[in-house]
Amino acid sequence: MSLLEVRDLHVWFELPNGTELHAVQGVSFDLDHGERLGLVGESGCGKTTTILALMGLFPPSVSVAGEVIVNGENILGKGESLIRDYRWKELAMVFQGAMNALNPLMTVGRQIVEPMELHGIASGAAARKRAGELLEMVGIAASGADRYPHEFSGGMRQRASIAMGLACQPKILLADEPTTALDVMVQAQILELLVGLSNELGLALILVTHDLPVVAQVCERAAVMYAGKIIENGTTEDLYHRPRHPYTRLLFATTPDLYDDDDVISIPGVPPRLDRQIVGCPFQPRCDSAFERCSSEQPALKSLDVGHSAACHLNDVPVSVTAKPESSPRNGQALDAVDGSDDGS
Ligand code: SF4
Repeated sequence: MSLLEVRDLHVWFELPNGTELHAVQGVSFDLDHGERLGLVGESGCGKTTTILALMGLFPPSVSVAGEVIVNGENILGKGESLIRDYRWKELAMVFQGAMNALNPLMTVGRQIVEPMELHGIASGAAARKRAGELLEMVGIAASGADRYPHEFSGGMRQRASIAMGLACQPKILLADEPTTALDVMVQAQILELLVGLSNELGLALILVTHDLPVVAQVCERAAVMYAGKIIENGTTEDLYHRPRHPYTRLLFATTPDLYDDDDVISIPGVPPRLDRQIVGCPFQPRCDSAFERCSSEQPALKSLDVGHSAACHLNDVPVSVTAKPESSPRNGQALDAVDGSDDGS
């Protein structure tokens, strides 16, 4: 049994005009003890919405369906009191933009102590001592507990947010773009800290980011999201060396390479609107490998190898058929790109 099992998760937002925006559309994945999973994709693909749903942080006006199974118990739909028991104790979150996540009117130490007291983990002097220890664990002197967030640098605020996330000794930490707006050196330190904490505490980590090199540096596995769905899921090694979806391949191709003189490329177009019904593959208007079937039939996420799945019609088509130039010239190129990088494993 996995530590966390997410099954067929859906999130709908009601828009002012009465229509619904289907932001997360049947997301499923597992997370084991101590495992580090990257949730990757462009802005608006559903990554942050997915983890906010796992934390049960949406108001009742947002519809959430599916199963979020923690230690064998489905915590979704069981009411706020059960989710409150799990939130911070089992699953904790480091929010995007540490300055926004920290209360500017409270000392950092008070903000770490508060969830401990709320969940009965510790109180009074014991909680304050633990807050100091947590700050030291993330590389800040214990005396920093008496300071206010504005007295910290951006990197220190992010470290303090991580200390807050760890206050109730969760088994799973959800980190939403934890290095956004930090300079490269501080970014590297924060990532190193997250990996170190994960190894040291056996902490499972879900890292939400649009930055693939960050995922490659931190995570063993990654799930690529597009238009509210997971479109490829596998080890970071598989996704980097053997991508089986054109979007994953293009995401890696758009990453600038310091040692390469080639122009930086971008993926043309924008993701589809999720308040409208999508016919065919959601990536079809932007895909350099699209063929006829893509505009009428939505591809399902299918298992390709052990632990590697993708949602793309190219994976159904034998190379000998798709290579026919008269049937689909661009598709032939794409299969070379996709399958040519596959070592056949
Ligand atoms: Fe491209 Fe078609 Fe695959 Fe979608 S199903 S990613 S449009 S080749």
